[in-house]
Amino acid sequence: MLVTLGEILDRANCGGFAVPAPNVFSDLDARACIEAAEERRSPLILDVAPKAVPDLVGLGGILTALAAKASVPVAVHLDHGSSFQEVIQAVRGGFTSVMIDCSSLPYAENTARVREVVEAVRPLGISVEAELGHVGQGASYDGQRSLTDPEEARRFMEETGISALAVAIGTAHGTYAGEPKLDFDRLCRIKELTRFPLVLHGSSGTGKDNIAKACRMGINKVNVCIDILHSVSRALQSADLSGNSAYQVWEIARTAVRTAAAEQMDLTGSAGKAWIPVPTGLTTVKTSMEE
Ligand SMILES: [Zn+2]
Repeated sequence: MLVTLGEILDRANCGGFAVPAPNVFSDLDARACIEAAEERRSPLILDVAPKAVPDLVGLGGILTALAAKASVPVAVHLDHGSSFQEVIQAVRGGFTSVMIDCSSLPYAENTARVREVVEAVRPLGISVEAELGHVGQGASYDGQRSLTDPEEARRFMEETGISALAVAIGTAHGTYAGEPKLDFDRLCRIKELTRFPLVLHGSSGTGKDNIAKACRMGINKVNVCIDILHSVSRALQSADLSGNSAYQVWEIARTAVRTAAAEQMDLTGSAGKAWIPVPTGLTTVKTSMEE
């Protein structure tokens, strides 16, 4: 079933677990992630980065149709939207949530631009994620730079009306130059002050122990891209492709994505946390968290 990011993250926040948000580029990898979610009975967030796909509106139509048919809750999310125009494209594509990333701007400007997007899309039932502090690139990794200030996080959340906050606690996008150092005390303080759904960007290469610990300490959405792509590369490199068929390549890639996505669900604690949709006319339903 197709759901909003807000619906998934409110449950994750109350239940003390996180949900993986793999970056997908086509219906092929999206199907593999949905298969993993159905196998693990996990909610799922499909992340789509506008710069990585040629047709946001077209892909949105395909992904939302796949999500609607899934037997588990699936949100279709715009990852790192950088402009109002990209947000509008995502809305046209049927996305159920958007990230507007103005984290490299000063606080007041970031707040104003995020609030503008929230006011535009909230009446459409679309959830908004924004970032405070700045998660940089692993290639120029400096773990102590631009981390999220906990007090500012509380203000930002109240002033913008967002549904999820991406925090900078020492992770980075891409491959790390050096050892990742996560500031767990900072994460704890942010959670303590906000009690809000929090998002971890740049999880790839961060290490399973660090990710699992971050999920236990208040992260509710884990973005993952490179780790899944590396799984596909390794599977293709060790495969016997003597049959010389393109279909063989796709099948190997699909299996690798499905396996890697399922591992993420085990790691973040989302396995077994899918819930049952509320039938029309009923007001309550027993969720797996209440069992
Ligand atoms: Zn990111």
